[in-house]
Amino acid sequence: MSAGLKICIVGSGPAGMYTAGAIVKKNPESQIDIIDKLATPYGLVRAGVAPDHQTTKNVTRAYDKVMENDNVRFVGNIGLGSDVPLDKLRELYDVVVIATGTPKDRSLGIPGEDKDGVFGAQTFVYWYNGHPEYRDAVPNLDIETAVVIGNGNVALDVARILMRTEDEMVTSDLAEHAASEIFRSPLKCVHVVGRRAPENAQFSSKELGEFAELVSAKTYTDKSVLPAEFTSDDKKEEKVVNTNLDLLRNFEQIRPGIEGRSIHLDFLASPVEILGDEAITGVRFERNRIVDGKAVGTGETYEIDCQLLVSCIGYEMGILEGLPVEKGIVKNDEGHVADGLYVVGWAKRGPSGTIGTNRIDSQNVVERMLADFEGGGNPAKGGPAGLDAWCREKGIRAVSFEDWKKIDQAEVARGGGKSPRKKFVRTRDMLSIVQQEG
Ligand SMILES: Cc1cc2nc3c(=O)[nH]c(=O)nc-3n(C[C@H](O)[C@H](O)[C@H](O)COP(=O)(O)OP(=O)(O)OC[C@H]3O[C@@H](n4cnc5c(N)ncnc54)[C@H](O)[C@@H]3O)c2cc1C
Repeated sequence: MSAGLKICIVGSGPAGMYTAGAIVKKNPESQIDIIDKLATPYGLVRAGVAPDHQTTKNVTRAYDKVMENDNVRFVGNIGLGSDVPLDKLRELYDVVVIATGTPKDRSLGIPGEDKDGVFGAQTFVYWYNGHPEYRDAVPNLDIETAVVIGNGNVALDVARILMRTEDEMVTSDLAEHAASEIFRSPLKCVHVVGRRAPENAQFSSKELGEFAELVSAKTYTDKSVLPAEFTSDDKKEEKVVNTNLDLLRNFEQIRPGIEGRSIHLDFLASPVEILGDEAITGVRFERNRIVDGKAVGTGETYEIDCQLLVSCIGYEMGILEGLPVEKGIVKNDEGHVADGLYVVGWAKRGPSGTIGTNRIDSQNVVERMLADFEGGGNPAKGGPAGLDAWCREKGIRAVSFEDWKKIDQAEVARGGGKSPRKKFVRTRDMLSIVQQEG
């Protein structure tokens, strides 16, 4: 029996929370600290999931229940690497589980990526969702045309949020600073460009369907590239793709001289160069065709004039001292990294799948971990008391789950009207709430 383990989970996103939930169930004697560099828990549920998709965020109620267990602590505002080294955590705890997600944008790898007006999805999404580290990454939205690269749901989120009206966002928790930029933007056109064919796009039908309902923008696509029908041995995939193709058929045909606000869903093109001097003025694309399931350049190029580019082509792990990172993820064997060190979620698998995908994955890693520690933990480990001593010594003001609840209540109270909350976007403002409340 792996009794009495002292476990530190680094990251309070879905993967970290499902890991904690599984440990609570399988090994209730464990003491679990969930640390996060932010003062707010739940990772991309707060900072990634689109602000107009509030029902998706209800998953946090289940995470709250995990946090409320007596043997679980949230220790926010303490970053692995920035505030505490991995070696220290491994010294204090029997087990350290890396659940940091993949906090870095994947690069397009083309000339011009450093120009003003070029953003990765992480930066752009974190900006509009009020992530404190990206509060000041203000994009210039005094523009007419934006290009969004990618054919997944994040690309659709970005295009939709740029085109939603203030009325459409009243029930959202879009960060105040982003709302003021987005709603006064004269933006007329957003191109969402994917390198593969429409049947290869990773969109969910729900997200794609929302484009038909946008109040101020019409959606266009080139219907000549839509196949009549899509067949696959994977019947689930076949159904999703055919639903998406039906949705695409119902959009308008792309044509010259479109007036009014528009979203263009373009397929079979890869960006090859970002144009402009200091700031982006356009993107050169190469048209693709599909050969053996892969997008292959045809040599034919075209340009789209634009003043903003958001690249939504995925994320990767950054460098964290002491962690082996390979191909954008923490190198692991089914979640095992080294003695007493495990990884879950996007840091383990890479950035794909939904919130729910992390549940079974975290459960499997917990099974493996508890089997590895059948003999129990090391009673000499400092555990939570050792972490508290570290924070005192370093002057770190850790944020507890009770503190977070105060911040949460203050945000909800500030929301007013139909908005679920008005987010604090500076950690110091969050800490001042906690201090005021005593
Ligand atoms: C823009 C976007 C929108 C999405 N929308 C949806 C959706 O609508 N529905 C859906 O099902 N899925 C959605 N997803 C996918 C879903 O968010 C992921 O599957 C899930 O969040 C991955 O969980 P994770 O715990 O691995 O990582 P994350 O959610 O990224 O959590 C990682 C946590 O680790 C913390 N952390 C990072 N580095 C450190 C460090 N050095 N020290 C301490 N803490 C650290 C972070 O602050 C964060 O809290 C979306 C993803 C993105 C990017």
